[in-house]
Amino acid sequence: MMDILQRLKNKILLLDGAAGTELMARGIAAGEVSELWVLKKPDVIADIHKEYFDAGADIVLTNTFGGTAPKLAAFGLDDRMEEINRRAAEIARSQCPEGKYVAGDIGPTGKLIKPYGDADPEELTEAFARQARALAEGGVDLFIIETMMDLTEALAALSGAKETGLPVFAALTYDKKPRGYFTMMGNKPADAARALVEAGASGVGTNCTLRIGDMVDLVGEIRDAVSVPVFVEPNAGSPELVDGKAKYVDGPKEFAAVVPDLVKAGANIVGGCCGTTPQTIAAARRVLDSL
Ligand SMILES: [Zn+2]
Repeated sequence: MMDILQRLKNKILLLDGAAGTELMARGIAAGEVSELWVLKKPDVIADIHKEYFDAGADIVLTNTFGGTAPKLAAFGLDDRMEEINRRAAEIARSQCPEGKYVAGDIGPTGKLIKPYGDADPEELTEAFARQARALAEGGVDLFIIETMMDLTEALAALSGAKETGLPVFAALTYDKKPRGYFTMMGNKPADAARALVEAGASGVGTNCTLRIGDMVDLVGEIRDAVSVPVFVEPNAGSPELVDGKAKYVDGPKEFAAVVPDLVKAGANIVGGCCGTTPQTIAAARRVLDSL
């Protein structure tokens, strides 16, 4: 199979959409640890991956966003960290057609780094390295670090995941303020992108928080700062409460209509975050194929 970095030289790739939305549709309860479903309900997780590949995704993410030991420890599950991550990778791999890819999903630990909290960056790097090792054992092709609010933690995750020798892509999540885009910890897109590339990221990007129309300029800023592939996973708009349930405002059609603008702004990989579905990804596939 062609190496993903090679493939990105002349092709825009499509990532999958949200897992949380799909899990809710399949009965996961609020407050349940979704990572545990790779052990409890592997067939459901496999089915979600299959739906995204069938919708036209080139890359799916393992169900391991909260899969670091510090994050799992909050639910007393840290002793199952290796089992969960290895199994999650195996499940995604089992659904992956020839020529497509499985990315090991890595999210924040939930720990704040000193002086804001009690975590050392070295300690977090070790936790990320252990998660990445288990995912690599299960057969992932690359890593995607997502929804980071703090560049320091993103760098720790990058450093840990790079120990496997696989390509690592890293995204922070930004909000749009009157003075520009900022992470919760005050990092700016161009600075963060450059720092991640300097530290060895194969690709950089952004995901979550913002809806697709608000991410076009953000992708442009990242594109102007670096020459590596840029990836973007917008939310399907902000959730509105309808009958006590979160309903997202950008449907597949509205989402897909903005995909060409993201590509024009410099995105090499497009996918979806919160509220996006296999229908969103299928609509994005049709648009990408028509470009
Ligand atoms: Zn999200």
